Amino acid sequence: MNVTRFAPSPTGLLHLGHAFAALTAAAAGDRFLLRIEDIDTARCREDFITAIFDDLHWLGLTWPEPVLRQSTRADTYRDALRKLEDLAYPCFCTRKEIVDEIARAAGAPHGPDGPVYPGTCRHLDEDSRAEKMASGLPYALRLDSAKAAALAGPLTFEEQGHGPQDEHGTIPVKPLLFGDIVLARKEMPAAYHLAVVVDDAFQDVSLVTRGNDLFAATHVQRLLQALLGLPVPRYAHHHLILDKDGRKFSKRDHAVTLKSLRESGDTPANIRRRVGL
Ligand code: GLU
Repeated sequence: MNVTRFAPSPTGLLHLGHAFAALTAAAAGDRFLLRIEDIDTARCREDFITAIFDDLHWLGLTWPEPVLRQSTRADTYRDALRKLEDLAYPCFCTRKEIVDEIARAAGAPHGPDGPVYPGTCRHLDEDSRAEKMASGLPYALRLDSAKAAALAGPLTFEEQGHGPQDEHGTIPVKPLLFGDIVLARKEMPAAYHLAVVVDDAFQDVSLVTRGNDLFAATHVQRLLQALLGLPVPRYAHHHLILDKDGRKFSKRDHAVTLKSLRESGDTPANIRRRVGL
């Protein structure tokens, strides 16, 4: 039995790309779950959550209630963080300091989202760390990815769909791909990668069906699953529905929000056709 899920972040209205993702996930599952990834409370909005429910119901999807919301799960994420304590370090760098440091270090390693964190705070000695802590500077917790990778050993994940380079089958994990990822911040009890693996395990998700823009993220998510001793789902990444210029839809593309398509008389059957289902 496949348990699948659609896990949108309510930071805007759903568009055609989301419709494709949700319908594809639902079609692959014997049990289809909806999860609201509203961990970043500064960017998420209650009216977007309501719109997600309305749009997905309109498309004809149903899911068990109550819907899991990440904003209610801080305690669980803190428990997970505690398990990673020996592999994490506080990072006091501001965004600007990171950019400057990367500019200074020629040949800084790049990940899928650009240059990776140069590891500045990983090298802090105990005294400077304690001093910065005591001064009340805000900090993020970062995973020491090299240490974590050494502890986890070689890993793989099973790709049933296709990555952006047509990756398929048993994929060897590149644990250092994103460098020392942020696990949590002062105002956020868990960053995306941590929250998503904890919740997929909590909800017994067996097949993660999602866009191939998240294929690379699977490498670091698989590492976190290993470190936390979580069950490992299979993955089915799918292609993205792009705008007429071949780009990902942006939040400003009001013309392709499900709300506007519905209001201009489109039907769920039309939407399915438009996304090639
Ligand atoms: N919440 C993520 C997003 O909206 C998706 C998470 C996932 O499918 O793993 O992009």
